[in-house]
Amino acid sequence: MLTISELSAAYGPVRALDRVSFTAERGRVTAVLGANGAGKTTLLRTVSGLHRADGGTVELDGHRLDQVPADRMPGLGLAHVPEGRGVITELTVEENLRLGGLGRGRRVDGADLERVYELFPVLADRRAATAHVLSGGERQMLVIGRALMARPTMLLLDEPSLGLAPRIVGQIFELLRGLVESESLSVLLVEQNARSALSIAHRGVVLNLGRVVADDDAATLAADDQLRHAYLGF
Ligand code: ATP
Repeated sequence: MLTISELSAAYGPVRALDRVSFTAERGRVTAVLGANGAGKTTLLRTVSGLHRADGGTVELDGHRLDQVPADRMPGLGLAHVPEGRGVITELTVEENLRLGGLGRGRRVDGADLERVYELFPVLADRRAATAHVLSGGERQMLVIGRALMARPTMLLLDEPSLGLAPRIVGQIFELLRGLVESESLSVLLVEQNARSALSIAHRGVVLNLGRVVADDDAATLAADDQLRHAYLGF
């Protein structure tokens, strides 16, 4: 379980997170929703050690993560897939995947690769192809697969749906749902596409101007007309 307590962060005078508290439970998808500038990306960057908090704590399964440098996070079970699908286009699909296993500090074995190929058969078909031939959806699968190579217990995902056709978004979200159910992985899913995110999430946290304005079951949030109109855009 990821426990975030009173987490605050700023960019100079701009307060991006203001005493944010919530928990993301093991084996669950927790969606983090909110308009542009609500603080969603900053939340993920702060949890994964890429941005320094100026207050509050983060714990993963009882271990404090705040103060831990970003490069040690994979070893503690935390993986972060930033927005933008940063595959290395000159490398093959398999070489990209192998990079994901390095952070955990042990050799990448064939079983790690085969597990990812089972989850994403389209990557198996293209394992020897350079990543620049992949479509947007396939690149998103590759960056998720690369993160899974470190065998995380908590996966932070920033806007995986961005720029993808609804059908592909549906496929990726279904896959995430399957992953948390079969592997008791936890996912913290940042999305602007609130309707789709809530359709697969168990819980949702809504941010506005760096503060938590709602934290509830996904179904309860999706049924709240006032909240949807004010913060979720559907
Ligand atoms: P989006 O969906 O547009 O990425 P977001 O909810 O992820 O929005 P953040 O990107 O975390 O929001 O931004 C939170 C606040 O911090 C905003 O006011 C934003 O302008 C500000 N901010 C984000 N990055 C920086 C930066 N590098 N320098 C200064 N201010 C920043």
